[in-house]
Formats: sequence, C-alpha cells, structure tokens
Amino acid sequence: MTTYNFAAGPAVMPKPVIDQIQAELPSFQGSGMSIMEISHRSALFDQVISDAEADLRELMGIPANYRVLFFQGGGTLQFTAAPLNLATKHHHIGLLDSGHWASRAADEARRVGTKVDILGTAADNHFTALPTLDQPVDQALDYVHLTTNNTIEGTAYTMLPQTGHVPLVADMSSNFLGQQYQVTDFGMIFAGAQKNLGPAGLTIVIVRDDLIGQAQNLPSMLDYQLFADKRSMFNTPPVFAIYAAGLVLKWLKAQGGLAAMEQRNRDKAALLYDFLDQSKLFTSHVKPADRSLMNMPFVTGKPALDAQVIAGATDRGLLNLKGHRLVGGMRASLYNAMPKAGVQALVDYLADFEATHAKEELTDVSN
Ligand SMILES: *Cc1c(COP(=O)(O)O)cnc(C)c1O
Repeated sequence: MTTYNFAAGPAVMPKPVIDQIQAELPSFQGSGMSIMEISHRSALFDQVISDAEADLRELMGIPANYRVLFFQGGGTLQFTAAPLNLATKHHHIGLLDSGHWASRAADEARRVGTKVDILGTAADNHFTALPTLDQPVDQALDYVHLTTNNTIEGTAYTMLPQTGHVPLVADMSSNFLGQQYQVTDFGMIFAGAQKNLGPAGLTIVIVRDDLIGQAQNLPSMLDYQLFADKRSMFNTPPVFAIYAAGLVLKWLKAQGGLAAMEQRNRDKAALLYDFLDQSKLFTSHVKPADRSLMNMPFVTGKPALDAQVIAGATDRGLLNLKGHRLVGGMRASLYNAMPKAGVQALVDYLADFEATHAKEELTDVSN
C-alpha cells in the first residue's frame, strides 16, 4: 500500500533522499565508513557542511553579511539563544502572539530576564487569524519576534509587519524553504530541521553579522559569535542530520529551487482548501487570507466523527492526520516532500467519507 505521512514533525522527507541515504549508509563516498562514523574534522565532512551552507545560501539568496549556523537543541533552544545574543542593549523585545510557539518563545525570553511586550495578539479569535500590530513599534526594542508559520493553528505570514529599524527575528521552523521570504527583511531567521528540511537534531540559524558578538560571557553552546567563528564546529555537530539536510537541499535545487517549490505548495494547498471550503462536513476555521501553505487544521465539529475520519484514513495509508491536542480535529501537513498525489489521495478519501456519511444520515432520518 502506498502511504503518505501528514505528520507535523518529524515529517515526510523526499523519497529520493531516503533512497540515497540507504544506498550510501554503509560506506560514505567509498571511505569504508558510514557517515555516522566519520570525524567531523575530516575532509569528507568538511565538504558536506560546506556544500550544505553553500546550497542553502544559493536557495534562499542569503547575502554575505549574514552568517549561517548549525545548532542543536531544536527551535526551542533558539527561544533562549535569540534573546541572549540579540537583546543586549535594552533586554527588551516585542512579540506578535500568533499562538502556541509564539507564547513559548515569550516564556523562554522572560526566563533569561528579557522584558517581552506583546505587540498584538490573535487570542480573541482563537488564533484562527494572524495578529496585527496594535500601534507603531517602539524603536527602542532590541527586536520583534515573529512566527512566520503557526504549525498548530495553521496560519502564516505572507506580508510582514512593519517594524521600522527594529529587526525582525523569525521562527521559520515550519515553513522554512516552503515559502519564499526575503532574508534581508529579517535580522535573524531560525528553523528546526525536522519540519521541512531533514531529520530532528539540527536547527538552522541565519543571522546578520552586525547583530552578534555583543553579548558577554554567554555559555559557549549558546554563543552565535563563537559558532560563527568556529564554522558551527566548536564541538561535535550533528553530523548525520547535517548530511541528510544537505541531501534535501540538493533535492530542492533539482526541483527548481524555492520559487518552483512555493508554486507546488500553493497548488497542493489549494487542492485541500478548495475541497474543505465546498464541503458540507469538513471545515477550516482559519481566515482564508492568513492560511498556511504547510499545516491545515480542519474539523467536522464532532470529536467522535473526527476519530472515525482519522481511523479510516490510517486504513488507507493516509497517516498522522490527528490534530494537535490543543485544537483537536484533523491536521494535514503538506511540506515540500509531500507529493501532490498524496494531497489528491487525501481529498479523494475525505470526499468518499463525506458521501458515505451523508447516506448514513439520510438512512437515519428516514428510519
Ligand atoms: C516545532 C516548532 C518549534 C519547536 O521545535 P523543536 O525543534 O521541537 O524545539 C518551534 N517553533 C515552531 C513554529 C515549530 O513548528
């Protein structure tokens, strides 16, 4: 049976990449050693990490005055590292409260003594739309934190809020490389790999070089300047995860790069949203203009029926459609590596389910 994995993360990776990893796992480039066994100081790995950085720079158009860092600790560690490295003048940041991950970022920043102003919240509409700025941004903030794609709530920014001279710091964990942004619109971008780039264990940080190097006595493992100086090899980096992410970057280039990928993602997303919007059973509560291209929560309105939908989907090889516990219902994540055929299979299944359910309801009423 063909299976499609709709998980939010760790998530689907491109099939050709999995095949390549399998083929070269016992002996990397004829070395007689697995990529998991080679030294991070070897010439072999040096090529891997250099290629990964060069390919990422090419794909995203990252200018020379931005540093690319390879971290561990997930997106979550950057909630701590970003304020420690960048909120050095006023220890004061702004944040747009777009949902769960934004509020986690606020919590972690406060834990390290950073004052966090909520500049706008979407709490009033249960995060089914994006927050907007309540007033012009205070120019004395060190930066404004923004979650470009809200993995749980299913919203995403296309137009960025105007923050004047205050840099934007973007948590791009769930739409990194899935939707195009201009790197120069941000002071810093970070993303955990396991949503749209590769296996868990790697986090990418892209940061403008004039913003770093001002913090004193940071723990080494949180120090952007140190990581930049040591080419992310101050200690042992996650060798396997960087290798696998590097293969995904090469795959992305072969697919035509980010413009082509975003177009494919728009087509895939439209297929599902168009179905949901005409359906009498399934609903997306997210405001159309703010909808994510990556994560689509939807519901029937009845938890017991949602459970039937998910069980039936699993039987058909449509995996991991259970919604996040905070919002319930279903969630389909349509990352770069999800083929259009997977989305079509999902829509076909949902249409079948709806038709069968409508017949059952009719029979119930006539009895
Ligand atoms: C998953 C996710 C995180 C947390 O990532 P970890 O790598 O598990 O720490 C942070 N932000 C967003 C937007 C996410 O989707």
